[in-house]
Amino acid sequence: MLNVSDLSLKYSTSKDSFALRDIGFSVREGERIGLIGANGAGKSTLLLTLCGILSPLSGRISVDNVVLEKKTLSAVRQKIGMVFQNPDDQLFMPTIYEDVTFGPRNYGLPESEIEDRAETALASLGIVHLKNRLSHELSGGEKRLAALAGVISMRPSLLLMDEPSAFLDPMARHRLIEVLGGLSQTMLIATHDLDMALDLCKRVILLKNGRIFADAPAKELLCNADILNECGLMLPLSLSRHQPGNETQVAEIP
Ligand code: ATP
Repeated sequence: MLNVSDLSLKYSTSKDSFALRDIGFSVREGERIGLIGANGAGKSTLLLTLCGILSPLSGRISVDNVVLEKKTLSAVRQKIGMVFQNPDDQLFMPTIYEDVTFGPRNYGLPESEIEDRAETALASLGIVHLKNRLSHELSGGEKRLAALAGVISMRPSLLLMDEPSAFLDPMARHRLIEVLGGLSQTMLIATHDLDMALDLCKRVILLKNGRIFADAPAKELLCNADILNECGLMLPLSLSRHQPGNETQVAEIP
């Protein structure tokens, strides 16, 4: 459903270095893919490019066989739900309820459907109690869940998420993993939470310096301490034996 080929991007402020270089991969309908890499590897840049917020220098992106370009931008965006790294970039209505209903209302859905979608999204993330709160008064984790509820309520066919589990308390993170695991949508999840990637994703794409370093089954890649270390990452905590020197070992799935 998503095809990316030869994608390269440079920020106008950085003269020589590419933020993305020769990126190519395909995603099948319903796949959940973890997008991992050290700080600055290019994860956010890739997600922002896939949803048409950043324009690549070269390359081609298509969603459901529609090539992303100026004239198809709004059609392609309707298929994509983007959860930004910073929830303040997402929440713009005064209250959470207005925010979560904004997308469905914009689609012109009947009021009962709008309410149903909003209530379902809020309940699934355990944040019904936040619906009448002002977004700027919420904690970082609460904002993140509210932003996710807004995207889920639009029921996009492709979910792009940038660090969805950051700042969540253990219970909220667990609920998030359950919620995402229960959704049928195709997902690309940029994360440093390798345990979440292991729980949710069958496949992982590892970026290093703007290039794809590996694209492999999660259970292979996330157990390979050598490859992870080479890219500035470490084994997921659940696979680490907490012994000095274990970082060069290949972990076993318990
Ligand atoms: P993190 O894990 O820290 O969120 P990331 O993998 O998401 O990192 P990006 O934010 O995509 O990485 O950054 C990729 C590269 O592009 C980095 O070298 C970064 O410094 C650079 N970069 C990101 N945003 C900009 C910008 N607005 N202008 C110039 N360079 C940028």
